[in-house]
Amino acid sequence: MSVRYVDEFRESRLAHALAAGIRSLADPARTYRLMEFCGGHTHAIFRYGVPDLLPANIRLVHGPGCPVCVLPVARIAHALQLASAHGVILCTYGDLVRVPGPQRQSLLKAKAAGADVRIVWSSLDALKIADENPHRQVVFFAIGFETTTPPTAVVLLQARALGVKNFSVHCNHVMTPPAIVGLLERPEAQAPGSVPIDGFIGPAHVSAVIGSRPFEPFAERYRRPVVIAGFEPLDVMQAILMLIRQLNDGRAEVENEYARVVNRDGNTKAQRMMAEVFERRAKFEWRGLGELADSALGIRPAFADFDAEQRFDLDVVAVADHKACDCGDILRGVKRPTDCRLFATGCTPDNPLGSCMVSSEGACAAYYAFGRARERAVAPV
Ligand code: SF4
Repeated sequence: MSVRYVDEFRESRLAHALAAGIRSLADPARTYRLMEFCGGHTHAIFRYGVPDLLPANIRLVHGPGCPVCVLPVARIAHALQLASAHGVILCTYGDLVRVPGPQRQSLLKAKAAGADVRIVWSSLDALKIADENPHRQVVFFAIGFETTTPPTAVVLLQARALGVKNFSVHCNHVMTPPAIVGLLERPEAQAPGSVPIDGFIGPAHVSAVIGSRPFEPFAERYRRPVVIAGFEPLDVMQAILMLIRQLNDGRAEVENEYARVVNRDGNTKAQRMMAEVFERRAKFEWRGLGELADSALGIRPAFADFDAEQRFDLDVVAVADHKACDCGDILRGVKRPTDCRLFATGCTPDNPLGSCMVSSEGACAAYYAFGRARERAVAPV
């Protein structure tokens, strides 16, 4: 039954009907630039060939919604320090271990050189490793948007309840609404030649946690419509149709295409747990976006014993991205992966130079995996 349910959101006949609807609604005299914030949408869009169904005046702009991609090199440097200099068991999610850090070092290379780096599927796996290794310090290197924050909150609550002494979290959780604001407030967003964004395809999993309400002040203040969309191709196409309708009407509202999962208030239990464990950082650096105020979470003082940044002496180093890598511009929607001269030549999934080629949600990885290299010939957005 569930398979049929998913199949209905991939139905080719319905996709073509939606495409016809989009074509008839889209005003040929204007261009619609729609940013899909979330890397999961980017992959769905290319996996199912959504751009091929759209008229040329609808441009999909890829956003910074990939947590591995937006993590600055300095935070990777912390992970490397923990795993190498401090000799901890460093646990993290799979994509992160391949991201190039300073001097193109990565956690995977550190592991090959003898560091104890372990890939986990969940934060609770990391706590289990701490239980199995009572004489070692175990650090869970936590990344992700609001989607993966509640599991980190749960593991910290559990570690405190159990009185675990050899477990801590290096927290890199970031938040979606401040990132969207950060994108629109950048000076270059108004500069000639930049890519103005007319509307947003809103994130699905993030909204399941925080609800659609947090996007409302943003839509009103910046006069940009947001349509929360699921990850199936028909979800995305329906969201595009709804955005075009709003833009044609001159509206800037938050609409929810993904009502089968998302409501206005989100998962309030998860929000309570997050609020108990985390507080907002005054500022946090994002790859491509620079420092954004109130855009990330740190661990509250009540949980300081479980905060790896407090427990370990970590050097704060400013590390520049690879000079030739355009990840920053791609994360801001200013360039597409095919605009990077290293795309599919010097940089491939087997030999990534930047985070956007590493992550399963990265835009460069999506272009590479789904054969968009041919778009090099297409005019830039
Ligand atoms: S192709 Fe590679 S080097 Fe170029 S922007 Fe993407 S990740 Fe960076």
